[in-house]
Amino acid sequence: MSGPEQEPTKGVSEPGPTVSESEPAVSEQTPAAPESTPKQLVVLSGKGGTGKTSVVAALATLATAKVLADCDVDAADLHLVLNPKRRHHETFISGKEARIIADRCSACGDCMDHCRFDAIRLVVDADGRSVYTVDPISCEGCGLCARVCTSGAIEMLDAERGEWFVSDTRHGPLVHARLSIGGENSGKLVTLVREQAVSLAREIGAGLILVDGPPGIGCPVIASVTGADLVLAVTEPTVSGAHDLERAAELVQGFGLSLAVCINKTDLNPDMAGRIREVCTARGLSVVGELSYDTAVIRAQVEGKSIIEYGGSPVADQIRDMWRILEDRLEEPKE
Ligand code: SF4
Ligand code: SF4
Repeated sequence: MSGPEQEPTKGVSEPGPTVSESEPAVSEQTPAAPESTPKQLVVLSGKGGTGKTSVVAALATLATAKVLADCDVDAADLHLVLNPKRRHHETFISGKEARIIADRCSACGDCMDHCRFDAIRLVVDADGRSVYTVDPISCEGCGLCARVCTSGAIEMLDAERGEWFVSDTRHGPLVHARLSIGGENSGKLVTLVREQAVSLAREIGAGLILVDGPPGIGCPVIASVTGADLVLAVTEPTVSGAHDLERAAELVQGFGLSLAVCINKTDLNPDMAGRIREVCTARGLSVVGELSYDTAVIRAQVEGKSIIEYGGSPVADQIRDMWRILEDRLEEPKE
């Protein structure tokens, strides 16, 4: 295994050691009993920009004996604060994609005629010849072209849709991923990240998995909350914040999961903050944290620190108070 590296650039795909071959990431962690099942705290927001990742970074500073999982695979940004050093890397394979073997192709065009996804194109190659080729972003991997090609010129290959990593951070090991441009199945990649985090937590005896969830309420969110012991929804006092919170609550409570709420930048709109409290009361949700607006949060991010590390902000104390409540909630039996 090579030495620690900075966050890799897109497209790197050399194989790495398996997770089980890796060294435990954070030696100063206090391990939980090895046989215990790690608790999973998933932090969600209805959309980007609510401060979710800042909250996760702060909780990562406060929590001990944990594994971090960045399930925002479409726009992962937890690494910006945590400055991970990669120690394991794998390609994410999902489905198949067609490839035309030029030497065997008789240029009959049957494949292009049959592809319902317009993934096969007739293009001019570097030598000025017209050749059939597959656009991997449009290809759905249905395999029809390979069946109609009587020349045996089409092979179906494993489709590389992204990458996932295990990295070391100053707050513990981080499992994270990156979906390729045009890559689909982000729900599947989220599931992979979460499962790898669970397996790593068991391996090193960590008692908690802290998950930075994807925004929205789609398939990736469902994949990230599956199996959660507690979901924390971070919202902001705006009309869209209240709306998004209701949608997230419907989803999370629909799965019978325990949900708590953090209102970020509460003081920017006290009326809307009141409206969000009403929504929570109506749904039986507790507001476990109310955070002030403080530009120190942005300054901390710019310096690559959590607000707890940055210090000197009331927000740090507010998140400490919230964390104490969350710790207690995590001890409660699942609903
Ligand atoms: S069907 Fe086969 S031989 Fe015909 S253009 Fe497509 S790849 Fe080439
Ligand atoms: S596998 Fe399906 S989608 Fe992909 S190029 Fe062939 S026919 Fe089109």
